[in-house]
Amino acid sequence: MSDTEMEAGAAENQQPEKKAMKTGTDTFSFQPRVLVVDDEERIQKVCHRMLTQEGCDVALADNGIKGLKMIEDAHFDIVLLDLMMPGMSGMDVLTGIKARHPDTVIIVITGYATLEHSIETMKKGAFDFLSKPFSPQELRMVISKATEFIRTLQDIASEKTRMRVMVNTLREGVLTTDHQKRIVLANPAFLNMIGSKTRSAIGRHVNDIVKQPRITDMIDQALDQTSGYFSELTDELTLIPEDSKEEKIIGIRCFPFRDRLDRNLGAVTVFHDITALKKMDQLKSDFVSMVAHEIKSPLNSILMQMKVILDGLAGDLTEKQTEILNRSADKITSLAQLASELLDLSKIESGLINQERELLDLGNLIEEQVYFFQDKADAKTVQLTWKPGPKELSVMANRTNIEEVVSNLISNAIRYTPANQKIDVWCDQTDDCVNIHVSDTGLGIAEDEIDHIFDRFYRVKNEHTRFINGTGLGLAIVKSIVESHHGTIHVESEPGHGSHFTVCLPK
Ligand code: ADP
Repeated sequence: MSDTEMEAGAAENQQPEKKAMKTGTDTFSFQPRVLVVDDEERIQKVCHRMLTQEGCDVALADNGIKGLKMIEDAHFDIVLLDLMMPGMSGMDVLTGIKARHPDTVIIVITGYATLEHSIETMKKGAFDFLSKPFSPQELRMVISKATEFIRTLQDIASEKTRMRVMVNTLREGVLTTDHQKRIVLANPAFLNMIGSKTRSAIGRHVNDIVKQPRITDMIDQALDQTSGYFSELTDELTLIPEDSKEEKIIGIRCFPFRDRLDRNLGAVTVFHDITALKKMDQLKSDFVSMVAHEIKSPLNSILMQMKVILDGLAGDLTEKQTEILNRSADKITSLAQLASELLDLSKIESGLINQERELLDLGNLIEEQVYFFQDKADAKTVQLTWKPGPKELSVMANRTNIEEVVSNLISNAIRYTPANQKIDVWCDQTDDCVNIHVSDTGLGIAEDEIDHIFDRFYRVKNEHTRFINGTGLGLAIVKSIVESHHGTIHVESEPGHGSHFTVCLPK
């Protein structure tokens, strides 16, 4: 009696007690379907008993032809296949199984496991060997290894299916390319957005499918990002789908994805249809500018009439009446200021900003603004100083817009700087930029407020600013103008010590 038979005999006397194989990832149990193809009845019996105990669903075939027939009729996860059988050889059965069910895991049972044999069966797709005689422990181990392998494959397959369903049902378009710009994923929403009728974009070069250079340029830029540096690229594109006359505004985000060594593997581009949002925003802006426009002229005419009364042209006024009228005029001036700032802002945001650019002598322009505000500063006993730079600085920009930027910054500095303090204004240049500086020794801004002061309608509220009138729109306008000139603005400030605003305009 061989070892196998001895051990098999011992195993034969035990009562099969079924246990389900737990999968690693979740609680549902996986019961592999196993077919044993072997002409030796004893081996069949042992395998049946052992594998049933291990929680497998076991079927038996005593020759190759029968085994192949059973495989044709039903799917088996694992086949234990004897190589040496009368009639059809195990090697032919192996080829037959692989041709019908390539994913079936085949474990070859062989009595003469030579190296050549092993290589040949592996080449034909066998997963592992069991050389006769084998112990129950060896059988258990090889089955457990095969089950783990199947479970991993199933996990990968279900993850892939989940991802595919998710990406294909997204309303957002998704395009993924590899580092050679070949498409690895293009969901229906994306193909729809770019009006592509192609059925199979996968594997093709992105330039064959995507005809919008702005999109392909973004992918190029994402792929060109060097390791250690990551930035998301964004853009907005107007597309007109072939089947509709209505244009669509698409927000695009593109970023590279990398491997563990930080090498670029490809780029993911996400497309979001923002047409409705843009339309709503436009409606809102139109409404705000309409209201601002409608109230601006009546407010100015009320102010003029009040001035006539205040100047005494409509008769003498008591001190009390003058005081009340002055306070009312101040409030109406603030309202008129709000209306005109709202109009400015909506003009800038709807792209109607003055596009005419000229070569500006920046020093000259700033000096004029300082001169213009000198009286206001004197009235508050604030020392406003223009500090001429070493040489002339010029920049291509819109005169009215840059005057508005400088006047807003100086007017803010005067309003937020108490008496007997000072304001310095100057300009200089760095390699890429010409810079406008407005620095005061006034109230300063707390660190947590700095992030918000460029937001529309944001005003710092504390005991110092309570009595200073304002709309909270000045810096929002400044920022919009600076950005429309592709520049940046930043501020350094310390409460109680002052603020330093720097506008950088690209040369
Ligand atoms: P506002 O009409 O309130 O001045 P802005 O948008 O011009 O609106 O400014 C936003 C807020 O930023 C102001 O309410 C003020 O608190 C703060 N701020 C702006 N400039 C200065 C400055 N030079 N010093 C201190 N605080 C300032």
